[in-house]
This record gives sequence, C-alpha cells and structure tokens, in this order.
Amino acid sequence: METKLSRAIKASNELITNLHRDGLDRGCIATFNNFLTIKENFADDENDLHHSLDALKNTAYGGTRLYDSMCDLINRTFYRNGNLSRPWIMIVVTDGNDISSTRSAQMCAEEIRNKFTKENSNFLFLIGVGDDVNSSTMEMMAERGNFTYIPVKDFYLLEYAFMLLALKVTNSLNVSIRDFSINDASVTWAEVQKQRQISQVAIDYALLIDVSGSMSDRIYGPPPPKCFAGHDLKEKHLYNWYCDVCGENGQSSICKYYCARCDFSACPDHCKPGVECKPVDYCPNHHPLRCVKWTRKWVCDEDRRLFNGGTSLRCQQCDYDICINCLEDRNIIHRFARLILES
Ligand SMILES: [Zn+2]
Ligand SMILES: [Zn+2]
Ligand SMILES: [Zn+2]
Ligand SMILES: [Zn+2]
Ligand SMILES: [Zn+2]
Repeated sequence: METKLSRAIKASNELITNLHRDGLDRGCIATFNNFLTIKENFADDENDLHHSLDALKNTAYGGTRLYDSMCDLINRTFYRNGNLSRPWIMIVVTDGNDISSTRSAQMCAEEIRNKFTKENSNFLFLIGVGDDVNSSTMEMMAERGNFTYIPVKDFYLLEYAFMLLALKVTNSLNVSIRDFSINDASVTWAEVQKQRQISQVAIDYALLIDVSGSMSDRIYGPPPPKCFAGHDLKEKHLYNWYCDVCGENGQSSICKYYCARCDFSACPDHCKPGVECKPVDYCPNHHPLRCVKWTRKWVCDEDRRLFNGGTSLRCQQCDYDICINCLEDRNIIHRFARLILES
C-alpha cells in the first residue's frame, strides 16, 4: 500500500542517491510529529542514511509541531555538529499545519534567518505537500526567514521538487535562489548527477520529514502529465500518431499521453506526473510550438522558404511555422530536434 510517508521515503532515497557523495558530504535524517527525532546525525556513509529512511515506514502518528522542530533541528544538529566552513542545506517536508508549537510562525522564521539563512551559503527549503498546508503562512515565513517555500500538489511530485532543488543548490551554491519554478519538466536526476560531479564543495545537509498521523494516508497513483494548455494527458488508441513535442513517430497503436481537447499526443520523454510538457521552442508571441507533419505545401515564416510536405514547428493561434533549419540557426541547442525530426 502506498502512503504519503512511503512516497516521501522513496523521494528522499532518490535525493540522497543523487546528492550525497561518500567521503565528502554529510547527511542528517530527522523526523517530527509532536516532537523532533534525530535518526542520523551527520553521517558520512550514504548507506546509513538509506537505512534510516527505510526504517521510517509505518511510523506516522501524532501532530504537526513544525515550527519548533525546524528550530530544534538547527540548534541540535547544525549548531552542535555542523561544519562551519561548509554550506548548510536544510530540507523540510510537511503535509499539514502547525497548531502545537510554542513558537509562532513569525518567531520561527526570524530564528531561522538569524541562525541559518543569514549566511549566504546556507539554504533552507520548506516543501508543503497537498491541500492541507496553509501556503500563505508558509510564504510569509519564507519571506521573513529568507528561505524558499515550495508548494507541491501531490506526494508524487515530491521527488521532482527534490530534483529541482538539488539542481539549484548544486548549480548555484553562492547565488540567491529565491526564484523557484516547479514547471520545468526537462530536469532529470542525470543532470543533477552531472553537476554534482563538477562541484567540489562539500555540504552538510539535513532532511526533516513530517511523520504526523496524516502521513499514513493512502495515496492512489500519480496525477497525469499535462499538455501545453494544462489539460490532463490520458491513454488513447491512435493509428499512425507522432509526438506533437518532438515529432518522433509513435511506437505502438497506444498513445499513453493524449489530450482530446487539443488533439495533442506526446511520447513519454516529455511527460512527468502533474507537469505540463515543455515545448521545443516558442513562437514570437511566446506560445508553445507544436510539431506538424505536412502533406501539402507550406512556407517557413522565418526564411520564407517553400516546402512541399515535411515537418514544421507551428503555432496555430498565430498561424506561424518555422522550419527545422531556421530553428537550428536560432539556437544551436536545437540540433537535437533536427536529429529526431529527420529520423
Ligand atoms: Zn516526443
Ligand atoms: Zn490540451
Ligand atoms: Zn521524444
Ligand atoms: Zn503564437
Ligand atoms: Zn525556415
């Protein structure tokens, strides 16, 4: 049975697999419900961290003492055992609202700023998952506490939020990362890994996971990926289809990701649970471009070249078409598009 907590454990294991480098980084695993529990206090060994995480299964009960637990974690781990010469990263996951802390949200935020985030190399991410989280309180705290609040709709998207924050941390250990968007479906763990190999900066990080009673709630499967317009993509039997994002031909008569409202099909490469597919590029008015395979003549709106058949990237709304050559000229990165479209 899949629960909120089992999803959180799975996502955390992925995060550590991709973030932690044995012999360099140190990780801490902590949980909170009515009180803070430190399971692993800055371990060097990645295996110890995975074991601690796996042992959290079926441990959810009690309340959500979030504010006190965040401050307690800073005081009891980072201030006692943290290496002052390293960046400190703290990642907090919660699914509810705190009604039991002695500190107010505001006091908690101020303590975090004074003790943790006033240091530019320290990062704190608070991830609120689901509809029970009071996002406006969390946003206020993030503002005052100088940290990043990430609202996530669903526990299936938690791993994706982890992926993005790992990439941001790894990419920019010395710059401000307050602007945070969870809508870039092109990020992968492989990219995080690549950046991680380049960075030589060792970090001390802590994962603080909500194990209140509601974390044992059952969850029923991932939310569907979305088309460019934000509609849910669903499985559909289609004859002779191609991907509207990259132009690749469908491999079978079942398209797993189809939007009936837009007549939009996508191959799995572009599809992540709950997230909109990312287009190859945009028209001059910033609409997403769709791949179109022509059976008649058409003209490229960039170089005015006339084509008979072939592939364009098209914006229906603006009646704009661009050919693969022009797209490639526009940005060398689009070389991959040519490879796919012409194969
Ligand atoms: Zn595709
Ligand atoms: Zn659609
Ligand atoms: Zn593809
Ligand atoms: Zn357009
Ligand atoms: Zn052209």
